[in-house]
Amino acid sequence: MSGTFSSQSTSSRMSMGDGSWIGWFLNLQGNEFLCRVPFDYLEDKFNLTGLENNVPNYTQALDLIMDPEFDNNCWDNSMDSQSAEQLYGMIHARYILTPRGVDDMLLKYERGEFGSCPRVYCKGQRVLPVGLTDLIGQSHVKVYCPRCHDIFQPRSRCALLDGAMFGSSFPHMFLMQLPALRPQPPKEKYVARLYGFQLHKKALMPSDSPERKIPSSASTTTTASVMGNSSKSLTSSVASRSMRRLNL
Ligand SMILES: [Zn+2]
Repeated sequence: MSGTFSSQSTSSRMSMGDGSWIGWFLNLQGNEFLCRVPFDYLEDKFNLTGLENNVPNYTQALDLIMDPEFDNNCWDNSMDSQSAEQLYGMIHARYILTPRGVDDMLLKYERGEFGSCPRVYCKGQRVLPVGLTDLIGQSHVKVYCPRCHDIFQPRSRCALLDGAMFGSSFPHMFLMQLPALRPQPPKEKYVARLYGFQLHKKALMPSDSPERKIPSSASTTTTASVMGNSSKSLTSSVASRSMRRLNL
């Protein structure tokens, strides 16, 4: 995780925002998953309760976040930037759990900005960002698929964002507030086949002892023990090929 924040604070990247620090930060490459936390949310001290002890240089970091006229070219205090990015991430994780935050993230979700599930039978289901923990600096962001309920590595440059900027609850709060967006579970499931025959589940399990591993010169008994009853004809054909290779 080291380098996540420092990589974002590279002053060489272009500022294309509205002049504020938040505008600059949101326009950095790799920050596209993040939404804009409104100023009035930042100004409400209640929303920031408890964060002052979790971020170094808290007051300076908050001042920087609230800076409406941030000039990246005249500013080179990288320590404050890291604190500001960390603080913004922690505030962001809280904001996106609010109704307004959910609405902001809904716009990004509908535009497909978080990507889609790589699982074939999820058929391009859009995903939502999620953190494995709520602690900054523990792990990078993942994406959650509402159809298969699994998580994946993001296929975007946002994969280096800290997962705590979204938190472990976000997608579930999102789908609780927007139940109409909960997709039907996938109807299809991948079935492992060999030469068209369905494999017995034991054939997909790791060997629990060296004796159970199939040697290159597979014997008929070993092959039969790995294959299930539903694939008897395949078992015999594999066995006969093995026997031919061994000139038996
Ligand atoms: Zn999926």
